[in-house]
Amino acid sequence: MNYNSTRNKNTVVSASQAIAQGISEEGGLFVPQSLPKYSLDDIKALAEKDYRGRAKKILGDFLSDFTEEEISDSVEAAYTAEKFGSDNPSPISYIECGDKKVSVLELWHGPTCAFKDMALQILPHLLTKSVKKTYNGKEAVILVATSGDTGKAALEGFKDVDGTKIIVFYPVDGVSPMQKRQMATQQGENVNVVAIKGNFDDAQTGVKKIFTNSEIKNKLAENNKLFSSANSINWGRLLPQIVYYFSAYCDMLNEGKINLGDKINVAVPTGNFGNILASFYAKNMGLPIAKFICASNANNVLTDFIATGTYDKKRKFYTTISPSMDILVSSNLERLLYHLTDGDDTKVAQWMNELSTEGKYSVDADVKAKIDELFFGGFCDDENTQKTISELYKNENYLSDTHTAVAVNVYHQYVEKTGDTTPVVIASTASPYKFSQSVLEAVTDEKLPDDEFAMVDELSAKTKTAVPAPLASLKDAKVRFETECEVDEMPQTVLDSLSIK
Ligand SMILES: *Cc1c(COP(=O)(O)O)cnc(C)c1O
Repeated sequence: MNYNSTRNKNTVVSASQAIAQGISEEGGLFVPQSLPKYSLDDIKALAEKDYRGRAKKILGDFLSDFTEEEISDSVEAAYTAEKFGSDNPSPISYIECGDKKVSVLELWHGPTCAFKDMALQILPHLLTKSVKKTYNGKEAVILVATSGDTGKAALEGFKDVDGTKIIVFYPVDGVSPMQKRQMATQQGENVNVVAIKGNFDDAQTGVKKIFTNSEIKNKLAENNKLFSSANSINWGRLLPQIVYYFSAYCDMLNEGKINLGDKINVAVPTGNFGNILASFYAKNMGLPIAKFICASNANNVLTDFIATGTYDKKRKFYTTISPSMDILVSSNLERLLYHLTDGDDTKVAQWMNELSTEGKYSVDADVKAKIDELFFGGFCDDENTQKTISELYKNENYLSDTHTAVAVNVYHQYVEKTGDTTPVVIASTASPYKFSQSVLEAVTDEKLPDDEFAMVDELSAKTKTAVPAPLASLKDAKVRFETECEVDEMPQTVLDSLSIK
């Protein structure tokens, strides 16, 4: 199977090239030229496998220039019981919301307690194998600019993976105390973490400049290294996310919650549109999904897009209690548009160009009609997010993080509007302990302690739930990285940490 660029169909690359390169030269994203199709019998066969078996089958069908052994090694290294707490990295909690039965697909049992682990634990293995095939065994140097979650998940994924080095830049005052601690205490011989004296945009711009700096690139090449990215538009991050939708359906079958062939809906707390897009691919491969419920926070650019067909990023940016969804440009939407226009690269390129020059674009009536048929968009502000956390806890004894609560709230809005009783899978994207303050505020009326770890302990005592081990162990972990640098020192910092003169 080969891959095209969303902005130029004449660009055709192999799976390993798509993953090694990350993004196409003209700025488009790589998409598969066709999709493997699974019958109900195929799904039944998947249900007989465990998560790793399901992942091997699905990844194998997409990564046609990988050997079976390469795929098996990658999957076995990524989804271990040691890293995810059990042999099923994405277990389901079944809860009842009023008269509705809801399946909560928990995607946060990995090493950093957020759903990005589901992709970032396997990406390093797919990436090193891809680089080996396409760039002759060079060492991949991963640069990441992060506002928090991605940086830590990438560090954990790449830590001590042979053939890679990873350097993460974060804004010195732009991440939460817990996130800072998670990164500053990072283990691994091939990792480096640097705080920059600037904001997230400075970090991101700085990294982009290094990526395109030919002097630095040449120096890397002389040392048998090349830059690579672990960015959420890399196909190697999207593909592993398709697996857990199939796996959820299989688990529901095995647990007697649905019958083979029954339709389900999915509700996804959405930022960059990667998670929900993975479910769209699953449907197009044959998984019986009826509706995609796209949930946003106060940054409701997608809600408006789904309602009107116009994507308009010129709006106020809100900092919310579900920060991983604070996004105004959802990059992966470009892939959806490509598929909904049946691969009209010219149109997609034009819309993306309008987005960058005018800040908005409008899709045509055809595409709008398809969106109406497939998607429901809704949003939920901070106040209602906390109200939802409180109600879920009181009524169902289920403790939810802020992002998941946004999806639960929007799901309720959907049912109220449509009366649709199709069983729903809600993607739960973070442990409540990652956002202890907001969650604690929602479930208690008492005064909060000021220290982050005290809040974690209080949340645990109050709700009688366990603190996830990776967060609990942070309290006493040794700080390894305290370097701060100016934005214009970033290139030198990269060279220094690679010991290149
Ligand atoms: C990244 C993230 C999201 C958004 O996922 P997308 O794939 O970018 O839509 C939602 N919740 C959490 C906790 C995240 O870390």
